[in-house]
Amino acid sequence: MKVIAPAKNDQIQKSDNKQSDTLGLFNSTQLIIKEAVQKLGYNDDVYELLKEPLRTITVRIPVRMDNGSIKIFTGYRSQHNDAVGPTKGGVRFHPEVNESEVKALSIWMTLKCGIANLPYGGGKGGINCDPRNLSFRELERLSRGYVRAISQIVGPTKDIPAPDVYTNSQIMAWMMDEYSRLREFDSPGFITGKPLVLGGSHGREAATARGVTICIEEAVKKKDIELQGARIIIQGFGNAGSFLAKFMHDAGAKVIGISDAHGALYDSEGLDIDYLLDRRDSFGTVTNLFTDVITNQELLEKECDILVPAAISNQITAQNAHHIKASILVEAANGPTTLEATKILHERGVLLVPDVLASAGGVTVSYFEWVQNNQGYYWPEEEVAEKLRKVMVDSFKAIYKTSQAHQVDMRLAAYMVGIRKTAEASRLRGWV
Ligand code: NAD
Repeated sequence: MKVIAPAKNDQIQKSDNKQSDTLGLFNSTQLIIKEAVQKLGYNDDVYELLKEPLRTITVRIPVRMDNGSIKIFTGYRSQHNDAVGPTKGGVRFHPEVNESEVKALSIWMTLKCGIANLPYGGGKGGINCDPRNLSFRELERLSRGYVRAISQIVGPTKDIPAPDVYTNSQIMAWMMDEYSRLREFDSPGFITGKPLVLGGSHGREAATARGVTICIEEAVKKKDIELQGARIIIQGFGNAGSFLAKFMHDAGAKVIGISDAHGALYDSEGLDIDYLLDRRDSFGTVTNLFTDVITNQELLEKECDILVPAAISNQITAQNAHHIKASILVEAANGPTTLEATKILHERGVLLVPDVLASAGGVTVSYFEWVQNNQGYYWPEEEVAEKLRKVMVDSFKAIYKTSQAHQVDMRLAAYMVGIRKTAEASRLRGWV
């Protein structure tokens, strides 16, 4: 690994791929939903219902800043479909959050819950802000303000939030506390991803990466690759990416590249993951400590066996899909690969494990947390891990089988498996 040096590179790298994504997240999601619904034999009414969330609200959140001024933030909560049960999904704090992204993400949560067979529909929320420029107290006021603004439509039996990009267990704790004050009863089941002492679940923090790890273990079997010694590149070194790097390293794989918003580190001999984990900050930033940094785009195109985008959306597009050299691509992030790129990779024989399957470990353990909150009885870590493994292995197998049986790529297969439960529940309720 290259020598550490004083921070030089403190600029956040801008993704320049957005323009090449002709459809956009929301439209491409609708397109695959349509294809999946048709393949499953449902009529157009089912597609008309499922193509949009049932409800999306935009809220304006006034926050008193530390300097005494007031700043108004815009937030969203989208609930895709609650035919199966309450909606469920994370809240992200990011400067690029917008309504159409939150809507698409809520549909993906329906798919994830369907794939993992959880009794939920999909929800998602977000606040357009840059938490890296907010103080601890400003973050607390913003988190509490968001809960006050959406309190009418959320709750342990209505819609259950969770962490996502740039939100963590502390933010969940503030949100839960605010909700408990509004409702005047203790309600740990209102939100998941809480600290352990406030009713969080063992294994929740690392759940997404554990789920991705299980998908990688299943995917390498299909490609006859030994995980021991396999070369892995991970884009993103936050919650999902850093735990995954650790798990892969511990499993004997060679993590040869990692990145964050500032750039990427690459070493064909393998990076010192323990050292990098030790030096990363709470936002998943570590590359700013190094001088020998390449760009995120360069990293994605490096030779490797397994590539895991674990940062943001629209990273692999029609522009760079031909240059991806991995034989397995596992999407830990939501929406890192565009629809055009998915087709290119599928034609090239790359095994793509889609986001709605690969990152379903997070919502699965969130479900376990909610169940534990509801019964007031808490499980040891091994029990959580064992239950998660079963869900992920069964989900991977079901989707792989569907893709083979219908001769479709893994993304369409995942949509078919994921949408079936909500489509059927909506039909049985007489909605369509
Ligand atoms: P995080 O905020 O903990 O980390 C995000 C990482 O991405 C950081 O290392 C950050 O530096 C990096 N990043 C940000 N902008 C970037 C850019 N332009 N280029 C390259 N890297 C950039 O977030 P997380 O919780 O690890 O989530 C990462 C992805 O995984 C997201 O797409 C999220 O939706 C998805 N996901 C997370 C969970 C979960 O439980 N944490 C569950 C399901 C899906």
